[in-house]
Amino acid sequence: MTTLREQPSQILPEGTATRLHIDGEWRDASDGGTFTDVNPTTAQPLSEIASATAADVDAAVSAARTQLGGEWGSTPGVVRGKLLNRIADLIERDGDLLSRLEALDIGKPVGQPIMLDIPNAAATFRHFAGWADKIHGATIPTAGYFGRPTHSYTVREPVGVIGAIVPWNTPLMIAAWKLAPALAAGNTLVVKPSEDAPLSILHLARLIAEAGVPAGVVNVLPGLGEVTGDAIVGHPGINKISFTGSPRVGRIIAKKAADTFKRITLELGGKSPQIILADADVESAINGTAMGLFFNQGQVCAAGTRVLVHRSLYSQVVDGLSAAASAQVLGDPFDPQTTMGALINAKQRESVLGYIQAGRDGGARLTAGGGRPDGDGFFVEPTIFADADNGMVIAQEEIFGPVGTVIPFDTTDEAISIANGTVYGLAASIWTRDVSHAHGLAAQVRSGAVWVNGWAAIDPALPWGGMKSSGTGRELGWAGIEANTEEKVVTIVL
Ligand code: NAD
Repeated sequence: MTTLREQPSQILPEGTATRLHIDGEWRDASDGGTFTDVNPTTAQPLSEIASATAADVDAAVSAARTQLGGEWGSTPGVVRGKLLNRIADLIERDGDLLSRLEALDIGKPVGQPIMLDIPNAAATFRHFAGWADKIHGATIPTAGYFGRPTHSYTVREPVGVIGAIVPWNTPLMIAAWKLAPALAAGNTLVVKPSEDAPLSILHLARLIAEAGVPAGVVNVLPGLGEVTGDAIVGHPGINKISFTGSPRVGRIIAKKAADTFKRITLELGGKSPQIILADADVESAINGTAMGLFFNQGQVCAAGTRVLVHRSLYSQVVDGLSAAASAQVLGDPFDPQTTMGALINAKQRESVLGYIQAGRDGGARLTAGGGRPDGDGFFVEPTIFADADNGMVIAQEEIFGPVGTVIPFDTTDEAISIANGTVYGLAASIWTRDVSHAHGLAAQVRSGAVWVNGWAAIDPALPWGGMKSSGTGRELGWAGIEANTEEKVVTIVL
């Protein structure tokens, strides 16, 4: 592959936001510090980004707390809903720019954010715009109080200031999943984008201000995990942490958040199975399974990285997935021919190559890819391993790259046992033409989401989250409102 660094498309759009957004102002970090945001396609710096300190987090929390008791705190739900709809309009207006920022920052083909991230982020704000004036409680009959009747009712109040910590793989969409329900319910936020991909969320901060959300309600602080993230998790003025990222960091956050009894939602990793039953439409199963392996270079929490195939279809599926891997076109995310981009950074590329070596060493059969193309960017070939068993490292650990592990099974019970045989439980796909098989297996798989005859059928109306090491709590749908409110009961003794 030739160098891509000279392509004009690789240059950051003029005026891209690179500073902290605190209390409605764009600021440098209090100590003037920055970090370098790198373009994965070229391995060249894209921009220097202000890197928030603990003092900056303090200033953001103070602005957010002031708004809880201020203008935002008394903004009715119907007005919050209007603001959220306006944010959705602005995301759609700037969809091309936001897609460009995502492609530059993450290295993904620009068609992917155009197809998924931008419409999903806008739809998420619209979905929660609808909830904002419908968050009501219940009246509950009781046995009374020392012989006197009572009138009891519940109300849902905002949790307070939410610390939202976001990963780099789909930053705009995941930020929307945190911001929209939190704002609908009347909370304020301090948002930390990943140091690997902060640009789209910084632009979103502009759009939120343009929509008319009062200054200080949403503060966006790019910075390093161990500095900015750590200061957010430890801050006594923050009431809840909404985190999406790795189990390793999720564990650190859960422990630290316990010191101040913060509420937490943890959306973590996965090793999701895609189960292809003997009665599946095998062509659509191969196409859907390949998408679950290679979309976003496999850097998807719900990537369907363990392909479990009934032995009667096994060689057909191995051949089909290997052909799909070999057909991927790696390169410039702005070239319409490109179907796969680079991995996020050099560390991730080395980690993925390490797993490919582990697959070889473990005795799995490499049927496609396995190498690293020439060139500057952090590219890795889409890779398929066949004849794996579920005990291998490549079948157990989250690789977060374009690597699929294909495992045969003979009975449905065996498929379920393999599917559930990991520490993760985020998502699963089942490919079958038989609706009874679909319901039967869906009931037995231990994961937060089960898709039948599809992969990643997500929607803002549907709760999202994991079982086991894939996390705790749910985002989106009504569950997103519950996760961003405290339920209070009021009892009046009559
Ligand atoms: P990561 O855990 O390394 O980082 C996530 C965020 O946490 C970043 O903003 C980072 O700066 C911050 N962080 C790092 N150390 C911190 C600390 N000590 N305190 C506070 N914050 C800290 O994850 P990543 O590499 O950005 O993302 C990949 C991971 O995210 C994968 O495991 C993937 O499965 C997971 N993920 C999960 C979902 C989901 O919905 N379940 C979605 C996307 C990604």
